[in-house]
Amino acid sequence: MYDIGIDVGGTGIAAGLVDDGCRIVARKGLATDRAMTSEAMSAVLVSLAKELMAESGVFPDQVQSIGVGVPGTANRRTGCIEYANNLPCCQGDIRQLLKEQTSKNIYLENDANAAAWGEYLYLGKKPESFVMVTLGTGVGAGMIQDGKILRGVNYAAGELGHMTIRYNGIPCNCGRRGCLEAYASGEALIAQTEKVMAKKTKSLLWDLCRENRGYVNGKLVFDAYRQGDKAAVKVVKKYAGYLSEGIANIINILQPEVLCIGGGISRSGDILLPMLRELVQEKIYSRASAENTRLVAARLDNDAGIIGAAKLGLCKE
Ligand SMILES: [Zn+2]
Repeated sequence: MYDIGIDVGGTGIAAGLVDDGCRIVARKGLATDRAMTSEAMSAVLVSLAKELMAESGVFPDQVQSIGVGVPGTANRRTGCIEYANNLPCCQGDIRQLLKEQTSKNIYLENDANAAAWGEYLYLGKKPESFVMVTLGTGVGAGMIQDGKILRGVNYAAGELGHMTIRYNGIPCNCGRRGCLEAYASGEALIAQTEKVMAKKTKSLLWDLCRENRGYVNGKLVFDAYRQGDKAAVKVVKKYAGYLSEGIANIINILQPEVLCIGGGISRSGDILLPMLRELVQEKIYSRASAENTRLVAARLDNDAGIIGAAKLGLCKE
């Protein structure tokens, strides 16, 4: 049997046909149209699902469920998406629309929760408590306890990127100031790098930036770090400092067994994680405990959202 997982992002929609071993056996993608209504969105998702089945020779009765990760709050009571800045027109009962058109079990979940679920399923021995923090355009997060996603009273729990790490700090997209997201997202890393580059005009960062058609990205910063560039070392250390504030807060509140760092920046986990472990160890309340949270890098990369969405049926209610 198979399941279909669809990760609806602010810029793109990625869909995959996933087998019983959590492997993606076929995939499809397209750009997100931010003006999409729920009706338009469900039509797009249904056609993606049909294309996936047709191209892999899988019949509809071999598919058990369709799970969709959305960039907002997935209200499980109403079946609607809430607080989705990137999908302002998609406010109808999308779960019902998908159910009517496919007759499958439909699961709707916040995208960061779905990605966390995917990474959790990928772990051999399942930890009792698990948190995943995704460092992408923003800072997303998902929390799992005893095989259940923690969703809160209104399904909006786990917005760990919107804890403040600086009182009255820099403005965040959520309207507050000083949020972790404003300091530790991929976009924040780029802004911090550009600021340092403006002062250090002889840095290797400039050469790598020119090679990258004038754009700064996270990979470039870590590449310069690897080559010992002083400006890049400064940027990465400062960034790790900000991130460690948030991670230490999460650990102090939840003391999860495993805390997983995902998103584009986690591809430089060989640099970031050892640095982060050291900084976090100094900051956590439980620094003297014999047992502490294990900090690990995500392993599924962008596939976590697809696999997690596809396997939402395995999540305890
Ligand atoms: Zn915020």
